[in-house]
Amino acid sequence: MIFDKVFVGPSRISGKGLLARRDLGKDEIIFRLQGPVIRYNFSPDYRLGPHWINVGENTWIIPTAQVPWRYINHSCTPNSGLCDRRQVVAMRRIRKNEEVTIDYSCTESFASWKMKCCCGLKDCRRVIRSVQFLPDELFRKYHDYIPSFLRKVYEQQKFYVFSSNQKKGVFAKHFLPSGTYIFTVEGPVIHYPYRPHSLTGPLWLAVNEKSWIVPLKNNPWCFMHHSCSGNTGLIRRNRIVALKDIAKDEEITIDDSITEADLSWREKCSCGSHQCRKIVRSIQFLPEHIYQSYLPYIPTYLQKVHASFQKHVDRV
Ligand SMILES: [Zn+2]
Ligand SMILES: [Zn+2]
Repeated sequence: MIFDKVFVGPSRISGKGLLARRDLGKDEIIFRLQGPVIRYNFSPDYRLGPHWINVGENTWIIPTAQVPWRYINHSCTPNSGLCDRRQVVAMRRIRKNEEVTIDYSCTESFASWKMKCCCGLKDCRRVIRSVQFLPDELFRKYHDYIPSFLRKVYEQQKFYVFSSNQKKGVFAKHFLPSGTYIFTVEGPVIHYPYRPHSLTGPLWLAVNEKSWIVPLKNNPWCFMHHSCSGNTGLIRRNRIVALKDIAKDEEITIDDSITEADLSWREKCSCGSHQCRKIVRSIQFLPEHIYQSYLPYIPTYLQKVHASFQKHVDRV
């Protein structure tokens, strides 16, 4: 049997639910969403498809009748999520006979959709709406268990890409308080033991020694400018977060020095900031007080590079 990890049984939340047949480990695949992908260029009709899953613009998976998806109840503290758009995965350890739940906000993008929640938990949000309305701290917590299309929908309400003088830049759609998650630099991770290619290399994001994320063509990272007093930083190696409060329509920038480890890299700067360093170099050359002001939003790998360089300097 394909769905050998769960069974349908009485739910504490509502009617029937999906229960674990045995203990499930964190990140274990619980079941796959089998079914065709359809394009449907209208607002979703919930009479037709209350259980359709939105996986792209006007694109839905219709799970087949055998898939237990329709029994999975919403919870405001869920224990599963969607990975790779077709896999329901355990977000934490789930015990035998425990109900498997998901946060419906992580599966829905239609802004006028809403439902009442009576999950009874202390963190209950009462009214559940689409992913755009998910509180920032929950979005960050669920990040890896939200399909990439819905992550994009969530991010697109935070910034816009605008071009002036032939140059594109990224700007805040509304006020973004310090600490707000803004977007993820998405793209394949490659191992490249040479110097990055001069045509595409400037956009690559170092994530480890000789390892880089090559950002997807339309990722906002490709349009973001450097500033010597950047207003964002990075967490978990590729997630852009506001370092300070960012006003509506303010340009979203980053100090390139916190993403670069190549000692020979240097670039002229005329960013106009009163802190402008004129020549921007890799993290090893960042003045200590500026380095400190960017913490903790400096990728771990770059923090390591900085620390080992400091040790080296101290010894000399
Ligand atoms: Zn609830
Ligand atoms: Zn500058």
